[in-house]
Amino acid sequence: MKGSARFFALCLATILVGGSLYGTVSNASPFSLPIGTVVLDAGHGGHDPGATASWQWEDHVYLQEKTITLELVRKIADALRAARPDIDLVLTRDSDTYLALQDRADVAAKLNPGVGKSIVFVSVHANSSPSAEPSGFEILVKQTDKRLRFLDAQVQDWAIARFANQTASELNRLLNRENLLFATAVREQMAKNFPQARDRGVKEQDVWVLNASKVPSVLVEVGFVSNSDDAYLMTQQTWLDQMADTLAAGILAYINLY
Ligand SMILES: [Zn+2]
Repeated sequence: MKGSARFFALCLATILVGGSLYGTVSNASPFSLPIGTVVLDAGHGGHDPGATASWQWEDHVYLQEKTITLELVRKIADALRAARPDIDLVLTRDSDTYLALQDRADVAAKLNPGVGKSIVFVSVHANSSPSAEPSGFEILVKQTDKRLRFLDAQVQDWAIARFANQTASELNRLLNRENLLFATAVREQMAKNFPQARDRGVKEQDVWVLNASKVPSVLVEVGFVSNSDDAYLMTQQTWLDQMADTLAAGILAYINLY
């Protein structure tokens, strides 16, 4: 590159990085960039079975949430891989192992999304109730008043570059907005593909793994192991396939916003 051309390129780079040419560049949400990575979190595992239930149908069936979530997450990964081979997939666990909540959230929080890219986090769970009556699916997001600190003592260099342009409250506001958009995209697919299931909606909930996540995140409760109809479906491969494809479609619908 000739001297004058190099100088011009340098000036342009400075303007673009500084954002003075396009005022929106420096103010763009760090959470609404094209998604480069999807983190899939199968709830529970190892010595933590999650919700469990015993049912007597033709055979005795013992359901464990940790098994259902792992099976679903593996199927979601297959569906996403087929649809978008360009997107990186990270499973917090791919075996029957225990993982602390902090470690699950850290997987997404410590992952460098890459320049101009974003990450999303999806935790898959099955619900349980002391009563056999409740059924259906719900999508959880973190409580909007749970404020995250994006620049703390352990912050990595890429995160400083990413989060230094906005105030903490602006970052929290932007993240809450993405969480809601993400949850709505997933809910729409669920409602469309499981019209007979009870749609319990999108709920803000005080869930540790969501509160600690610094990327757009949802927790999906696919159904109740404590409800006979929901539990029976969870033993059926066709239902598991359909649920995984639906969750993948919800994730893709959100990804396609950017
Ligand atoms: Zn759970």
